[in-house]
Amino acid sequence: MPIKVLPEEIAARIAAGEVIERPASVVKELVENAIDAGATEIKVESREGGRRLIRVIDNGSGIPADEVELAFQRHATSKLSSVEDLEYIRTLGFRGEALPSIAAVAHVTMVTRWRDEAVGTLIRLEGGQVVGRERRGMAPGTVVTVEHLFYNTPARLKFLKAVATEAGHIYALVTRYAMAYPELRFSLVNDGRLIFQSLGTGNVREVLARVYGLETARELLAVESGEAEGTGGRWEVGLNGFVSPPSVHRGSRRDISLFVNRRWIHDRSLNYAVTEAYRTLLPVGRFPLVVLFLTMDPAAVDVNVHPAKAEVRFREAGAVFAAVQRAVRRTLLDRAPVPVIGHRARAGGPVWPGRQWRERQRRLPGQVGLEVQRTGDVEVRRQEEAPAGERLPMLRVVGQVAQAYIVAEGPQGLYLIDQHAAHERVLYEQLQAARAGRKNISQQLLEPQTVELSPEQAGVLEEHLPLLRELGFALEHFGGNTYLLRAVPAILKGTDPAGALVAVVEEMVAGNVPLGAEGEARLIASVCKQGAVKAGQTLSMAEMQALVQQLEAASAPRTCPHGRPTMIHLSADFLAREFGRT
Ligand code: ADP
Ligand code: MG
Repeated sequence: MPIKVLPEEIAARIAAGEVIERPASVVKELVENAIDAGATEIKVESREGGRRLIRVIDNGSGIPADEVELAFQRHATSKLSSVEDLEYIRTLGFRGEALPSIAAVAHVTMVTRWRDEAVGTLIRLEGGQVVGRERRGMAPGTVVTVEHLFYNTPARLKFLKAVATEAGHIYALVTRYAMAYPELRFSLVNDGRLIFQSLGTGNVREVLARVYGLETARELLAVESGEAEGTGGRWEVGLNGFVSPPSVHRGSRRDISLFVNRRWIHDRSLNYAVTEAYRTLLPVGRFPLVVLFLTMDPAAVDVNVHPAKAEVRFREAGAVFAAVQRAVRRTLLDRAPVPVIGHRARAGGPVWPGRQWRERQRRLPGQVGLEVQRTGDVEVRRQEEAPAGERLPMLRVVGQVAQAYIVAEGPQGLYLIDQHAAHERVLYEQLQAARAGRKNISQQLLEPQTVELSPEQAGVLEEHLPLLRELGFALEHFGGNTYLLRAVPAILKGTDPAGALVAVVEEMVAGNVPLGAEGEARLIASVCKQGAVKAGQTLSMAEMQALVQQLEAASAPRTCPHGRPTMIHLSADFLAREFGRT
């Protein structure tokens, strides 16, 4: 066949396929248009998961009568005028593709009134062709009704999932926009039933309460909007939002919602940054609930990567990744409830911020005691964390809970020990002791393994190579960013050695680990983390006893090398009091 330019109708159908994948895509484009039009109230209605009907009603600017047809032409937009604009996108839409794409694969009716005109316009399109137009009296704003979606693209229709699934996608979409735009009022009516509504008060937590329930929303930890992070200057990333404490988790990644400049995006790498920040804090196979808003110079992010604009590309991807991981991790460490014995569950609080806890630990060297706090009428007595130097009494292992905690009994009551954190502590002290004694702590691999790194990872590895060698990694440069691994620290035996090395390096990259003593300690902690038993591992009685004995011998048994507690202690006194025996 000779080469020829495709007829407009076919080109439009192809473009539509990229933008409009399913009913929720239509909702997305219409809601974005409403937001771009300055609406303060956006009502979404769907029937049969959006196959039969989707309607979006907004009170935004409307479209002037003489531009209504134009709005349905391909590449027609009021949001861009120059190539430079493309570098600096502040609106949700800009490609001028949504309305023509929707019109190409459905029956569309739009009624719109420009705010400066007295009457509105009704226009009807079928398969992209205008089939009707008339004047209409209405309040300023726009109503778009989309019916019989994919009526002329049977292949697409066939790939649609069950009505409930499609309705679920629409629900996810509307609620995400409500989170990103808490100052706007959203409502979603599904098959005649109001299933979601936000009040437009500007309070994100209030929107989250309507999506996830009051209890869950209350527990979420706010990520402080604090200083911007990143490479400094123009490409800095502002971060705020909410993350779940380790006690709240979900069965899938679905409730990790990321937004860039208030655009809901899907980004595997950032998603990974978030879940990594929770590593060892959540049970295996569980995921956090996260709603994170990234703010950056529009020029620092390319949103014109994908027709549906759900994927973006960052100018400084590494810095964005690190900023996200750091912010989430810091929020968890600073704000997550630390061992509180007592009324928490019943009284809905109190929460002991970790920072406060650590500061007190620093302030009170050598002092162990009880602290009395009043929270409302609930008196909370809390065993002061023992200072780092205090050793553990002899403990008797009782068993394992949730494949994550060891239950032990001691002279002063019950101890719940986090197996991973405890093992990290033990390995950390072993490694430090061996280093100090210049003992050989290296274990030769049966066969050398090649480790391929990214340029960034290789750079960081080179920086820390002397210390890595001191810890027992035998590494040779193997050309490019590839290394040959011949030996690893003995504490890593039983792990995937190359994987462990990459994980350590990755943590260095993400954590911006400084050189010097602090960096050294962090790198060593990171190696120990790889070698430690994980939550989710079943331990035998003998293994638990060995671990607890080693912990008893540790000089700072109560915190892991990252500063988290290794155990919660419920004193005999406390138990007696709780059971009403005293
Ligand atoms: P884009 O949003 O990329 O500009 P669309 O095809 O979604 O492209 O819309 C084309 C144009 O129609 C928009 O630029 C805008 O001017 C106008 N428009 C669409 N929807 C609305 C709306 N709800 N209110 C006001 N104007 C709208
Ligand atoms: Mg648009």
